[in-house]
Amino acid sequence: MAEGLSGKKFSGKKFSGKKFSGKKFSGKKFSGKTVYNGITMGKVMVLRKDQEQIRRTKVENAEHEIDRVQSAVDVSKQQLAALYDKAVKEVGESSAAIFEVHQMMLEDEDYLDAIYHVIRTEMVNAEYAVAITGDNFAGMFAGMDDEYMQARAADVKDISARLVRNLSGQGAVDFSTMEPSIIVAEDLSPSETVQMDKKKILAFVTVHGSTNSHTAILARMMSIPALIGVEMDLNQIQTGMTAVVDGTAGEVIFEPTEFQCSEAEKKIKNEKEKLRLLQELKGKKNETSDGRTINIYANIGSVSDVGYVLENDAGGIGLFRSEFLYLGRDDFPSEEEQFQAYKQVVQTMGQKKVIIRTLDIGADKQADYFELGKEDNPALGYRAIRICLKQPEIFKTQLRALLRAAAYGNLSIMYPMIISTEEVKQIYTIVKEVEQELKEAQIPHRIPEQGIMIETPAAVMVSDELAELVDFFSIGTNDLTQYTLAIDRQNQRLEDFYNPHHKAILRMIKMVVDNAHKCGKWAGICGELGADTELTQEFVNMGVDELSVAPPMVLRVREKVRTM
Ligand code: PEP
Ligand code: MG
Repeated sequence: MAEGLSGKKFSGKKFSGKKFSGKKFSGKKFSGKTVYNGITMGKVMVLRKDQEQIRRTKVENAEHEIDRVQSAVDVSKQQLAALYDKAVKEVGESSAAIFEVHQMMLEDEDYLDAIYHVIRTEMVNAEYAVAITGDNFAGMFAGMDDEYMQARAADVKDISARLVRNLSGQGAVDFSTMEPSIIVAEDLSPSETVQMDKKKILAFVTVHGSTNSHTAILARMMSIPALIGVEMDLNQIQTGMTAVVDGTAGEVIFEPTEFQCSEAEKKIKNEKEKLRLLQELKGKKNETSDGRTINIYANIGSVSDVGYVLENDAGGIGLFRSEFLYLGRDDFPSEEEQFQAYKQVVQTMGQKKVIIRTLDIGADKQADYFELGKEDNPALGYRAIRICLKQPEIFKTQLRALLRAAAYGNLSIMYPMIISTEEVKQIYTIVKEVEQELKEAQIPHRIPEQGIMIETPAAVMVSDELAELVDFFSIGTNDLTQYTLAIDRQNQRLEDFYNPHHKAILRMIKMVVDNAHKCGKWAGICGELGADTELTQEFVNMGVDELSVAPPMVLRVREKVRTM
């Protein structure tokens, strides 16, 4: 039997596991903007920032803080139980035993009573009481003669830190032990989102954010129900609560009532049935009833997304946002790392086309090691191809990896944020240099099809000249809308003005497609508008050759095309 924090044997007393005190939260509904339809129910994981420092704050209701501690103990014990099971499988029972000891420590009455005492006598917040008690107990153990007891100092620090993390919502940072959860946060950046294990995310719910941000795009790519702009007070929401996120209704319900749960279950069942019916479209052509066809490809952000592409029967990959390989890390990915990633994608896709966009870093996609510096207007700033042309050593590393991977499959390269023919010519000069270097080093490679994104009004206006230079166009309607309508796609307040159905945008698309066709080139759409089934008919009529959409949208767009 393990020993208790005060040196006595653990009694193995069962923690009484009180429910959250937040009764007023029961069944509380909040509305938000839907990023991806779909409905899910599960446990909440609150992600809070700027919580590294534990602040001591006065509270009025000590019992509420004690309830919070008890809830955090409950969540911590569940995490530790999961860690124990994982460790038993991976490293054996004896090494895993420590997680069992930690669970028992969390039942120790002396430790818990000391925390409650601090809360009640000082009227302070739970985080502070746990941290200070943890420090006191650790100090006490460290000062003991017994070596075994001295070693408990680290354990008590560990369990206290876990409790604080769970109290402040930072428990979510420990993704290895996390059960599939609904992530609730103030906001999420693309670099935070890419680091998350997608299998463990049931939904995203954020206070801020815009439907056109890259975090929203990632949620769509992963088919995760997501809501943004939800006006909720994160201080009242705790990790471990239950929630229903209903993307279709644009609402989230915390601590749903029995009735709300059963309604949600019905909707979940209906949705599953709809998805099952969509599966029947797999292997079918993207053909209208009068015999016109269109390619439907998928957008991805990482190698692991290829699974979603195949699952949804996309005809190819129309946009691999390679910049996601650069996010959520401390240094540039090497040529070899990139080569392996691109090669794996093209090989997995076999004969199917894989269009890899060169890095589109900048604006909301920030990686500190690029040292881009602060800009007043980052969306109009030093980003994407501009970085590549100004810092060709970064560009060349990626091009070498791409040209090498092209030798292994049906790869195409696409350049983002183009505004002129001069840029394309400069790019070609650099590509030639890279080709020469690879030739001299006798490294297998190939210059593949090269196209550009049309996502600036300038590119639209000179698309007749650009069409002569490149192999294809892919229209980035997200940025094209932002730059044409002069509306920051990140700005939540402008959501109602951001109208990708604006006549100006639709006329631009038509102009680009016509200019491509005049030169015998193809033109597609890889912005989010490509998945808008209200416009599918219009796109086919315009002669758009390809639509590249989030993987879960592939079959929905196919369904639309087939009923046209
Ligand atoms: C676009 O701008 O439409 C696009 C596809 O690129 P991103 O959303 O990554 O900027
Ligand atoms: Mg773009």
